[in-house]
Amino acid sequence: MSLSEFALIERYLQSLSTGAEGVALGIGDDCALLEIPAGQQLALSVDTLVEGVHFPATISPADLACRALNACVSDLAAMGAEPRWLTLALTLPEANEPWLAAFAAALGEGLKGFGMALVGGDTTRGALSLTLQVHGLVPAAQALRRDGARPGDGVYVTGTLGDAMAGLDQLQQRQAPNSALLGRFFRPCARVQAGLRLRGRASAAVDISDGLAADLGHVLGRSGVGATLWLDQLPLSEPMRDNYTAEQAQRFALGGGEDFELCFTLPPAGETELGDLGVSWTRIGTIDAEPGLRGRDAAGRIAVLPQHGYQHF
Ligand code: ADP
Ligand code: MG
Repeated sequence: MSLSEFALIERYLQSLSTGAEGVALGIGDDCALLEIPAGQQLALSVDTLVEGVHFPATISPADLACRALNACVSDLAAMGAEPRWLTLALTLPEANEPWLAAFAAALGEGLKGFGMALVGGDTTRGALSLTLQVHGLVPAAQALRRDGARPGDGVYVTGTLGDAMAGLDQLQQRQAPNSALLGRFFRPCARVQAGLRLRGRASAAVDISDGLAADLGHVLGRSGVGATLWLDQLPLSEPMRDNYTAEQAQRFALGGGEDFELCFTLPPAGETELGDLGVSWTRIGTIDAEPGLRGRDAAGRIAVLPQHGYQHF
């Protein structure tokens, strides 16, 4: 690279290492040193994004930074953890300074919004790919897990479903893609406030990265239960309803990944004290003792739903 690895880190990444509590030592040494307050657990999650697999080669550096960060922080949201620290392994084909400047500015903005700091990473040359590890804090034993759903619980989701998949479809199929749907693909929002609010309230939670049916399927499997979804209650956005038939919209809502909304379960009467999740929320079904995932249509007909989402292998 024309710009040395160290100059690149110094120029574009070093300044992102402030803005979070608990950083005893950030970028610049062999390890970062982080303070974990007594009584808190460290929530950790790592995600890799590869060009051509997780994002199109045409993505802007700002969209890439936003998408990567939110996709990764979404896992913290799903656990009810408070975001704190990020490490970033960056593989770049070249040290393109305008690209790096735009990427770092957008990453910095995203980090600031979450109260996070970039505390370390690795920089290598190769085909464009990013690996982000997020670190968050959650009071001991209060994390939202996948294994707590019980028969009789309600099934809920935040926001609207299927928009990211519709956005990708717009990008690939349409001459004049709908900008709101595109935005849901390129600029997802990790539902951190919702996750924090659901702590101590939800019996289980998961973020929707592979599609509602697949991700709810993980909750059902881990909890040893089943569910029936009310198909006519799936929350659909206005641009979704304007651009797609009801049947196509339902397919996107059930199977489309990358929305990064939360799917959660609440014990009976749990919704009365749910309050403000920072985003709309909708009840979409009920947890059953009988295993499997079923859909009930407006006419009351019940059918088994396929649970497969996007799988790499
Ligand atoms: P080492 O060889 O000891 O692993 P490096 O020379 O790779 O360390 O990195 C020097 C410092 O810069 C370390 O503190 C490392 O965490 C940080 N760093 C390297 N790449 C990145 C990156 N992409 N984002 C954030 N910090 C980085
Ligand atoms: Mg070292």
